[in-house]
Amino acid sequence: MLTRKIKLWDINAHITCRLCNGYLIDATTVTECLHTFCRSCLVKYLEENNTCPTCRIVIHQSHPLQYIGHDRTMQDIVYKLVPGLQEAEMKKQREFYHKLGMEVPGDIKGETCSAKQHLDSHRNGETKADDTSNKDASEEKQEEDNDYHRSDEQVSICLECNSSKLRGLKRKWIRCSAQATVLHLKKFIAKKLNLSSFNELDILCNEEILGKDHTLKFVVVTRWRFKKAPLLLHYRPKMDLL
Ligand SMILES: [Zn+2]
Ligand SMILES: [Zn+2]
Repeated sequence: MLTRKIKLWDINAHITCRLCNGYLIDATTVTECLHTFCRSCLVKYLEENNTCPTCRIVIHQSHPLQYIGHDRTMQDIVYKLVPGLQEAEMKKQREFYHKLGMEVPGDIKGETCSAKQHLDSHRNGETKADDTSNKDASEEKQEEDNDYHRSDEQVSICLECNSSKLRGLKRKWIRCSAQATVLHLKKFIAKKLNLSSFNELDILCNEEILGKDHTLKFVVVTRWRFKKAPLLLHYRPKMDLL
């Protein structure tokens, strides 16, 4: 195999965040233009703006946060290329949680190993790890389909019933992909409770009804930031059915 040495310096521009000038952490990509930033940098930026910081396209007039996504491939590449970065970041995050007296989320404890596995499978398989521009949506989709979103970022949720008109779920604690939407949850609950339609349900967070197209990632970022896992959601029959 032909190997070629590339200086980190030469690729720095592709693996750093334009907002903080640091290496990408929790890489998050704008769906429309595929520009990538640290999640925390981008989310903070989009609180005041609705355009991409790099190319200035309007991401979405009112809900830009719905059109950005965790970019696992990019993050794996950054961690692979920058020695010690992942360990340093995990350490920082663990210290952050410890300082707050909170339990360290499982994905931080176990990230090192799963990220490595993921990258290795990329190398052996269809996607080349060194091809950072390769973010073909269909390919990504196919990969997701194979593992039923198990390698996605996960959210822990507590689904609490908010009405005497409905019975509660037998198991109210669930863990699923952050890419799942409120609609997915509605269908899940409707099925578990044998409701005739998921349309009979509302799901609420902080007493606010959630739009069915929101991803759980979006809900966490906008409604559960800095709060302890699990994400607490309530469900109840739609108001007109009460
Ligand atoms: Zn950043
Ligand atoms: Zn852009």
